[in-house]
Amino acid sequence: MSAPGHHSDRAATRLLHAGAPALRDGAGPVNVPVVRTSTVRFASQQELDARHHRRAAGERIATYGRHGLDTHQALEDALTTLEGGHRAFLAPSGLSAITLVLLGLLGPGDHALVSDSVYAPVRRVDKTLLQRLGITLEYFSPAHDDLDARIRPETRLVYLESPSSLLFEVLDLPRLTAIARARGVPVAVDNTWSGGWFLQPLRLGANLSIQASTKYIAGHSDVMQGAVVVDSPALAERIASAHEALGLTVGADDAYLALRGLRTLPVRLAQHERNATEVAQWLQAHPQVGRVFYPALPEDPGHALWRRDFSGASGLVSFALRGGDASRAAAFVDALRLFALGASWGGYESLALIAAPERLREHRSWQGDAPVIRLHIGLEDPRDLLADLDQAFHLTLA
Ligand SMILES: *Cc1c(COP(=O)(O)O)cnc(C)c1O
Repeated sequence: MSAPGHHSDRAATRLLHAGAPALRDGAGPVNVPVVRTSTVRFASQQELDARHHRRAAGERIATYGRHGLDTHQALEDALTTLEGGHRAFLAPSGLSAITLVLLGLLGPGDHALVSDSVYAPVRRVDKTLLQRLGITLEYFSPAHDDLDARIRPETRLVYLESPSSLLFEVLDLPRLTAIARARGVPVAVDNTWSGGWFLQPLRLGANLSIQASTKYIAGHSDVMQGAVVVDSPALAERIASAHEALGLTVGADDAYLALRGLRTLPVRLAQHERNATEVAQWLQAHPQVGRVFYPALPEDPGHALWRRDFSGASGLVSFALRGGDASRAAAFVDALRLFALGASWGGYESLALIAAPERLREHRSWQGDAPVIRLHIGLEDPRDLLADLDQAFHLTLA
């Protein structure tokens, strides 16, 4: 047999075999070994010098434990394949991957435009770190504002998230990236919602794709991790130097778990989508529900863009209660038995979370004041999920 990855160009096949180890002496394991180390040994001073030199010239060569060896490189290769990029960088969390991009591309006096429905901790990074460094983030509403008119001479980054992670606003990425490109401004997209499987932002003109691998890529609620995939050697150089300066590293065991998660990403996401669609449709017909947010529903405002740009929908569904206040929303999530109460998502299990009202007010696309509950629809039998929601509605009728 030829090397894995040569059988087909189809995405699922490429993802399954990306980063597979080469055979040695005619045999070997399916999976890359977990290579833990804190340092790298060299055969000679000449070899050490040569490798340091190649690394300094931009090659992906480990000269120290922090850079990661076989396991890390296999995961980076698989992520690069997944996102259709040039090179991937691993980070210890999704948030640190975001901070890596912001610190890698922005400096004192620089300005960045950020979509207003962005993952909320980005605003905290802005307030606690970026402002102190003289970096200005400006939040804009992609649906209401003209991006072109907001780009300034000192704008160095457009930062987007699509769909957003509370109300799943779908952005017109090809239009936004075309505007930024025409002005020479790189575009980063937080692509966590799609797991990298249902959307490849780099194919729609973005330059960096960010993943909280903690979510669908790891897929089992047992790893914290992030990744940045870049589209060019020039951006790889910028991100590599920030990555090195920040000392970011990921343990080999966690890199292994993320790679293992990637192998089943397409099948898990397909089931999340089926289950979530069933729950979203059920909620839509429920008299206690005012509105459902799920881009795969034809009634969702982002549906047309989603259909054009995405190949599927993940397991996140939000809904606004019809009537009731924050205490009713709290009673509802307390009444759930199968859905755990908690942040995050992307594991095999179902979760519920009340969307903080102050966060919703930051999104100009929706200004309703009914409480919003976000569900992550896991891989349980959807009949059990519907039964759990049903009993919670009955217990907490408005
Ligand atoms: C969870 C999440 C992150 C942050 O990932 P962590 O690994 O939890 O730090 C970033 N972006 C989005 C959209 C997320 O959902």
